[in-house]
Amino acid sequence: MIIDSKGNKWYKGNLHTHTTSSDGKLPSGESAKLYKSLGYDFLSFTDHWITSETSDYEGMLLISGVEYDVFDGDSCYHIVGHFLDEKPKLFLGCTPNEIISEIRRCNGTVTLAHPAWSLQRPHEMAALDHVDFTEIYNSVSGYPYSARPYSGTLIDVAAMLGFRAVLTAADDTHYYEEDAGRGFVYVKADTLSPDSVRKALLRGDVLASEGPFAEWRVDNGFFKVHIPDGCEHVQFFTSRCWNPDTTSRGGTVYDAEYKIKSNDRFVRAEIVGFDGKTAYTQYHFIDGGSG
Ligand SMILES: [Zn+2]
Ligand SMILES: [Zn+2]
Repeated sequence: MIIDSKGNKWYKGNLHTHTTSSDGKLPSGESAKLYKSLGYDFLSFTDHWITSETSDYEGMLLISGVEYDVFDGDSCYHIVGHFLDEKPKLFLGCTPNEIISEIRRCNGTVTLAHPAWSLQRPHEMAALDHVDFTEIYNSVSGYPYSARPYSGTLIDVAAMLGFRAVLTAADDTHYYEEDAGRGFVYVKADTLSPDSVRKALLRGDVLASEGPFAEWRVDNGFFKVHIPDGCEHVQFFTSRCWNPDTTSRGGTVYDAEYKIKSNDRFVRAEIVGFDGKTAYTQYHFIDGGSG
């Protein structure tokens, strides 16, 4: 847990974890022990087609979760449910929107996992009924297990088509080697309870990260980022292909800002540390922009 410059608590957690209940290499007890030792405040076991329950491991919150993997035609979808009041009743061959609908019936939240790894089509993302969260970074989708851990460009394109989801990061641990602990969220919540963490996630009070911590806000026409420990550079992303002032660098960067232009439709930022590890803010969408 991190306390920010205004005294807010940011709890650290991994919302996407596999165990021997499906294709992970550790049983849930050993997995929980590992994440507790890494300083995590919450964790969710999201085995394929197997729903875990909300509980507690030595003060670390365990949030109920499950991951459904389906094909719709030749399009691959991995959809994760969290905060479930009951086990969804789903069957192999169901459609992505049927999964979303059933997760919602169980009062759960919906995450579109690792869209780049899945080679998700942006127009198909925009056509999903409603997605609460999507992973801009997923560790196991990258080296040395696979090759597409970063989904930012894809999500930016989908955002231009109307896709709206809170950005998260997760390690999606399967192997407990080079994947565990390399992607997580900081969530600004009042307390470490399922309800408080859920509400904070849905509000977008979330920083997706591989390591760095940062605060951000929109103030008087500027998107501002503050990095308490400093970073190598801050990169702003907008809906336009060319913007002259989207990189802040030089020495150690503690504060960066981007002046929002009249034709920007969205702005977000990535904070890159000297070790290359990156943190990802949420989108700020601007109504009425022409892009
Ligand atoms: Zn998956
Ligand atoms: Zn997974």
